[in-house]
Amino acid sequence: MPDSADSFAPSGTRSAHIPTLEDLEGALGSLDGQRILVRTDFNVPLEREGDTTRITDDFRIRAALPTIQWLVDRGAQVVTASHLGRPKGSPDPKYSMDAVRARLAELAPGVELLENLRYDPGEEGNDDAFARKLVAGIDGYVNDAFGASHRAHASIVGPPRYVPSAAGRQLQHEVEVLLVMRTKPARPFVAVLGGAKVSDKLGVIGALLDTVDALAIGGAMCFTFLAAQGNSIGASLFEPDQVETCRQLLANASKPIHLPSDIVGLDAAGNVQTFGPRLPDGAKGLDIGPGTAAEFGDVVMDSRTVFWNGPMGMFEDPRFAAGTKTVARAMADTKAFTVVGGGDSAAALAEFGLADDVDWVSTGGGASLELLELGDLPGLAALRVGAARG
Ligand code: ADP
Ligand code: MG
Repeated sequence: MPDSADSFAPSGTRSAHIPTLEDLEGALGSLDGQRILVRTDFNVPLEREGDTTRITDDFRIRAALPTIQWLVDRGAQVVTASHLGRPKGSPDPKYSMDAVRARLAELAPGVELLENLRYDPGEEGNDDAFARKLVAGIDGYVNDAFGASHRAHASIVGPPRYVPSAAGRQLQHEVEVLLVMRTKPARPFVAVLGGAKVSDKLGVIGALLDTVDALAIGGAMCFTFLAAQGNSIGASLFEPDQVETCRQLLANASKPIHLPSDIVGLDAAGNVQTFGPRLPDGAKGLDIGPGTAAEFGDVVMDSRTVFWNGPMGMFEDPRFAAGTKTVARAMADTKAFTVVGGGDSAAALAEFGLADDVDWVSTGGGASLELLELGDLPGLAALRVGAARG
């Protein structure tokens, strides 16, 4: 596939060329009447009440619209496909795409959406037969699912083996922003980490310490670190088998790692309390305390580049939203270049009305962390290999 002026070549990746939508059009001649499979990340936060499911934030659906519109404008028949939640390889009505399909029909009428990709075990199993099923009758493939591109799943890495393929606009922009952040950040560069996917995220912290000048850790993630320091953490979420990893990270870190000095949570009787860094038996930490929130806010204000992934507490409950809100405000107020990654972090920012006050809201939490860590993702590598195959 020839290089075009629109190709993008993220620095710090192994090979230069990741094909763009323009390259795809070049490869297919014309997109008019062509069936294009667009792997989107429609893994949106949902709220269920009885039989009705409501999308609490449609940011990830809207993020795919520039790519979809570009293809539709050129006469392509667009078929979108996404995973939603974690059904275990079989149909589960709880994870049906119906609510997403309804919203997509409002935003992009006439665009198809396949059923949840993870209804088939072949998706997460990276089964080649499932990949071939996905591309049956398909003329070209676009990956616009940044939030899933750190997974070597069938719909991410399979299609470029079979049909001309390209990165969509959202994926392209995500990669550009995060790789600039990785390779030439204005310093000091601080990462603020939280959220609940502790074991997913702990692995990247060591590598992240090579890139950033300081880390601030809140959310459920902080309790594994507090435990590693020998603090009692009561009934808080933590990963017992990661305590040793955290202990070593803390012992060997050449950069400051800010951990909470106070915690808001529920005591054993279910009352909201503010604790120090040691929680009594039965107490559950659900937010960083006001002192910690102020400290993290100052760290954000004093930085020139900030990456934030993961809420500081269980912000869905207003009693435990204050820490996340303080960090979100600092992200909005600081003069630093600010990037927020992660579905729930983005939802929190939107809920506080601050989504327009940061420089970039990434659609991927795990993916943005991995791209910062490694400078590459399986989904990007697949597109490069597909392009090299020609
Ligand atoms: P993101 O989607 O931004 O990457 P995660 O999915 O990792 O973030 O985590 C988001 C979830 O973490 C939120 O639903 C929030 O309620 C939860 N959370 C944050 N802090 C705590 C805590 N201390 N205890 C339990 N859950 C927490
Ligand atoms: Mg999440």
